[in-house]
This record gives sequence, structure tokens and C-alpha cells, in this order.
Amino acid sequence: MAIKKVVKYGEPSLREPSKEVHKVSRKITDLVQDLFDTMYTYNGVGLAAPQIGVNLRVYVIDASTKDHPMKPMVFINPKIIKKSGAIVEDEGCLSFPEAYTAVKRYKNVTVKALDINGKPFILEAKDGCLLARAVQHEYDHLDGILFIDHCVNRFETDEVLAKHHLPPIDEDRLIVDTVLEEELEND
Ligand code: ZN
Repeated sequence: MAIKKVVKYGEPSLREPSKEVHKVSRKITDLVQDLFDTMYTYNGVGLAAPQIGVNLRVYVIDASTKDHPMKPMVFINPKIIKKSGAIVEDEGCLSFPEAYTAVKRYKNVTVKALDINGKPFILEAKDGCLLARAVQHEYDHLDGILFIDHCVNRFETDEVLAKHHLPPIDEDRLIVDTVLEEELEND
């Protein structure tokens, strides 16, 4: 299919909520192929449709590592139905080239979605693995939420953003998740 331009932080469409997919049509399977082509070209772990300028609730993930191969996955109309535990890890995003910062995430998530054939599936990702974090990161993109909104230290994150010539944090968007904060304290 095609390698698309990745929407960069600062462009308003990254902050727009995406719409549900009504039917897994040819248009959607083409979109999924574009997402994979673009993600692999830029060495991403995941890519959400709004990052290539399409505000639909679709993302792809390939959380393979050298020691742990996994099959590429497609998530259409995903819903995170369970989350628990907490973890702090550095994260990056193809919409923020070269910029990494520590963010707070749930350790375990259960997500329900449709696959490329429009068939529902449920996936459990545990122990703060790459897949568990990617599921949350990409899911957020569908609601216009970005990883920096979950940062541990906003001042450090602003420094990283400035260094990479990206706009600063939007203070009003910083997420305060009291459940997650509690999990972090108990960990
Ligand atoms: Zn991202």
C-alpha cells in the first residue's frame, strides 16, 4: 500500500477524538496496511490511525523483540475493559521523533477489539510488557491523548520537548489518575 506522513506533535488533528468504525470494509483494510507500512518504515512498535491523519478508531501494534517474537496485531474499535498495577517506563512516539520521557502506565490491561476480519477478540497483556504499554499508548491516540499527558515529571518532559524542537506540554491536558497513583504507591 503506502507509507504515509506521520502527523507531528503540534498539529491539531492529533488532539481530535476519533470515530468508531462501522464496517471493516476495504477502506479499513487498506488503512491497516498503510499503518503497518508506515510503522515498519519508521521502526515503531505501534501506530494509530490519527497519526496518519485518519481520525478512526484503529491502531496496529508489533511488540516483537529480539528474544520474543510476536505476531503483528490490529485493533479496531478497541475498549480497555480491565486495568491494574502500575509501572513507570520511558516511552516515545512516532509523532515525537527522538523524544523519550518517563510515563505512568497500568501494568496489566485487558482489551477488547475487532480484528482485521471484523471478528471480536479479547487480549490480556501483563506485567508492564511492551504490548501492555503499547495497547494503552495507542488507545489514547484515539481519544486525542498523548504519552506526555502521562509524564512523571513535566519539567523534565518540557526540556526533552524543547531539545527536539517540539511544543511544550499543555498543562490542562496532564492526566491525574487517582487509581493509578494509588497503584504506584502500593507497588
Ligand atoms: Zn504515539
